[in-house]
Amino acid sequence: MQRDEWADTLGVVFERVAGSDTPEQIAPAFFVETADGDEQIVLSARGADGWRVQLSVCTPAEALLREVEIDYTRLRDEVMRLWETYPLDGTDRAGKKEELARLSEEVRETLELLRETDPPGYFYVTQRLEQERSMLDAALASEDADLMDAGARLLHILEAPALAQVRLRNLFEVAFDGMERATQRERYQLLTSTYPSALNGYYPARRIAGEDDVPLGATHMEYRAEEPDDLYRLLLTLYFSQGRQRIVRCECCFGYFIPKTSRPTIYCDRVFDGKRCKDAGAGLKYLAALDRDAALRIYDTLRHRRAAEYNAYMDQHSGVDAIAERAYMDEYEAWCASASAARETYLEREIDAAEFLRRIGYDGEAEPTATEAQGKSEWRGRVERSIDFDPWMEYHGMMTLDLTAENPSWEITPAAEQTREAQGEHRSLREKYGKK
Ligand SMILES: [Zn+2]
Repeated sequence: MQRDEWADTLGVVFERVAGSDTPEQIAPAFFVETADGDEQIVLSARGADGWRVQLSVCTPAEALLREVEIDYTRLRDEVMRLWETYPLDGTDRAGKKEELARLSEEVRETLELLRETDPPGYFYVTQRLEQERSMLDAALASEDADLMDAGARLLHILEAPALAQVRLRNLFEVAFDGMERATQRERYQLLTSTYPSALNGYYPARRIAGEDDVPLGATHMEYRAEEPDDLYRLLLTLYFSQGRQRIVRCECCFGYFIPKTSRPTIYCDRVFDGKRCKDAGAGLKYLAALDRDAALRIYDTLRHRRAAEYNAYMDQHSGVDAIAERAYMDEYEAWCASASAARETYLEREIDAAEFLRRIGYDGEAEPTATEAQGKSEWRGRVERSIDFDPWMEYHGMMTLDLTAENPSWEITPAAEQTREAQGEHRSLREKYGKK
């Protein structure tokens, strides 16, 4: 992509890097410029052609919020479709070459999904595909190159921005969910104790002499990152080195935001159904309080425990004995269904607490364990166990086969339902108590 095209797509093109006479030697990269005493950073990107484009001028928190909110669903659906459409696994080499060439075309078309919504991602994928071009041409001309491998590389590049966001969202969930009353340091500590290497990245940095770089004057630094994943972690590192802005997860809609004042703030200004979270939140919270009496807490505890036991069982026994596994699954699902029905009945005040507890099989021994006492959902447990926990992958049209049915057939459990199940009680107020 040439300078003018970048200017059209991304805005300002402001600099040709000095000494870039041999463009082919320049690796594409992101740059983040900071200045002491200035909250704003300058985010830019330099292409292999040596031109540098300015992507945004904002604070690290603002840059991160923008990335975390991008909706990559269509991109990921497309990548999945491309994997399926172009398996590149036949024996007809000429046919496979044609397939690879078409795949390459489709990857370029799909890339356009990022143009408007994700300028850094768009930049990254464009540049990386450009680098890949000669290898692709070589593969298409060669008689023994691995075509399947060449195709896979294209799809990995295309999906990279979305996968970087998967990790960023997990980092956000750990650091900012329910952490509004914590200090910046506490958020940082929780994050680094959950994912010890998450913020240990090394970002090549250099000091720049700025205009006002007189003795004791401002210090400009410039950091470099090559991958979106590195860029996000760099921005997060910079975010944690300041204390003026903080990121909070809204309890009402579960979106993230930056409060305008230092007063504890748990609701954002987003508007749903004509009501701001700020105005709707308190009412929903009241419903939540009503919903959280002792019997319901026991129900939550039992439910989390059963889910954890279920997952542990599946981890250990899956694939060993299909009949035993099926029986275990049936038993678990039956319990979930009847317990959840009992809860509904109880909430409608058709049965009392004692009957509710009897129906969910409470044996008087549901003393919550330490993690359970913190109310951790199955979802949160999975986020903490792996920074790569990917809801799109995990809950994307999960297939189940009901062998008890007369004519068993595969059924797709909607992703939303799966997600709800995993999140348990830990969902936004809007989702739990808002208008359905
Ligand atoms: Zn909100």
